Amino acid sequence: MHIHDLIGVGFGPSNIALAIALEEGRSAGRPMVPLFIERQPRFAWHPHMLLGHAHMQISFLKDLATLRNPCSRFTFVNYLHQKGRLPDFINLKTFFPSRHEFNDYLGWAASQFEDRCVYGEEVVEVRPEKRQRDEVELLRVRSRDADGAMHERLARNLVVSIGGTPNVPDHFRPHRGDTRIFHSSTYLRDVARLPAHARRIAVVGAGQSAAEIFMDLHGRPNAPQVDLVMRARSIRPSDDSPFVNEIFNADFVDVVHSRAQAERDALLREFWHTNYACPDLDLIRQIFEVFYEQRVAGAERHRFLRRHEVTQVAADTNGVHLGLHDLNAGRDHIVRYDAVILATGYARDHHKTLLDPLAPYLGDFSADRHYRLRTTPDFTPSIFLQGACESSHGLSDTLLSITAVRTGEIGAALAATLPSPHPAPAAADRAMSV
Ligand SMILES: Cc1cc2nc3c(=O)[nH]c(=O)nc-3n(C[C@H](O)[C@H](O)[C@H](O)COP(=O)(O)OP(=O)(O)OC[C@H]3O[C@@H](n4cnc5c(N)ncnc54)[C@H](O)[C@@H]3O)c2cc1C
Repeated sequence: MHIHDLIGVGFGPSNIALAIALEEGRSAGRPMVPLFIERQPRFAWHPHMLLGHAHMQISFLKDLATLRNPCSRFTFVNYLHQKGRLPDFINLKTFFPSRHEFNDYLGWAASQFEDRCVYGEEVVEVRPEKRQRDEVELLRVRSRDADGAMHERLARNLVVSIGGTPNVPDHFRPHRGDTRIFHSSTYLRDVARLPAHARRIAVVGAGQSAAEIFMDLHGRPNAPQVDLVMRARSIRPSDDSPFVNEIFNADFVDVVHSRAQAERDALLREFWHTNYACPDLDLIRQIFEVFYEQRVAGAERHRFLRRHEVTQVAADTNGVHLGLHDLNAGRDHIVRYDAVILATGYARDHHKTLLDPLAPYLGDFSADRHYRLRTTPDFTPSIFLQGACESSHGLSDTLLSITAVRTGEIGAALAATLPSPHPAPAAADRAMSV
């Protein structure tokens, strides 16, 4: 069985940026041939949230390469140049391209690594592989394709960049599978499946996704009545003022990582609102205007249920019945909806499930400054995490902010693990079907 230098789980922005960093490191004499395994059938960046008017919440200069290597051919500027749109983009006078355009940019970059990515397989488990000595020398990566067939590959190193998994609040968990209740991560797919008469809709959440979904529903031809349900007192904008934004600079990772955990936690709490429950100010203004206009018209179509907590969920043929506790009035009431959309964020711990067979070697799953999990001495593979180190590396970890620089750091750490001299790179993937 072929042994891969590196297997990357997922092929979203983090691992595309890593593919680029490794490619550019290879031309600088540090050969490392990765294979990426992506569960989607082809590249797509949060495809069910590619809403009509959605824009990036980060400067295009924080693309897959610029901050690590502004001369890279994989920059957003070079993408625009290749597509013949650079002068027109300049005339837009914006740092924030549409999400559609950024998705196209990411897909353009991903397409240049087709020979290094297997699409349509979900990694389900990574097992330790012992060889001659009683040490774990390799990793056995097990994945399942769309037909249910299992595949196994061996790797010397692993990078897990799987993004978040939808966070479904406890009350809603027994209703998984009910097509009237779904998470924002599958919004466009699942809203299209609702019957046309589904007009009473609750959106739970106070962040960018909740705000975008509210405005999207507001503009739909069947004119649904939407309740925006949130615990918060108001919708607050993200603070992207320049001094605050310094926490998203690559060198701020050193500041966070060098502190004791209690101090890191305090930093996360202090700046939590720069990233969570903080829609763009423009979007907040649009929502406010919608509510104002309906007051002018004297017709209550949508409701802004602030300081409301979901306390129970029941579902029957009449609809989904949410028990809501009004934290201001101290009152409980039940409201019937045709559908409930959970814009309730993401959890970032699924890597622990994938790596569970390795748990005896991984201690508390903490990562060093180079995003490498600390392991016991009898474990030689390096395992890196992207997007799951917020508590140790700071709030930029789940965003695009530091992707380019982080992948350069991981690339350098990987290069240091290479035996010398290294065998010629093998292009083709060789997997064993089991
Ligand atoms: C709607 C939305 C908009 C956003 N907008 C911005 C923005 O404007 N700016 C910003 O900085 N951040 C934004 N983010 C944050 C987002 O996390 C990053 O933009 C970026 O997607 C992180 O890249 P990633 O590769 O780490 O994770 P993801 O983009 O989540 O990619 C992970 C990939 O791994 C695959 N995968 C998962 N599990 C497995 C498995 N077991 N086996 C194989 N493949 C697997 C997934 O299919 C996916 O393709 C946004 C997030 C969302 C949800």
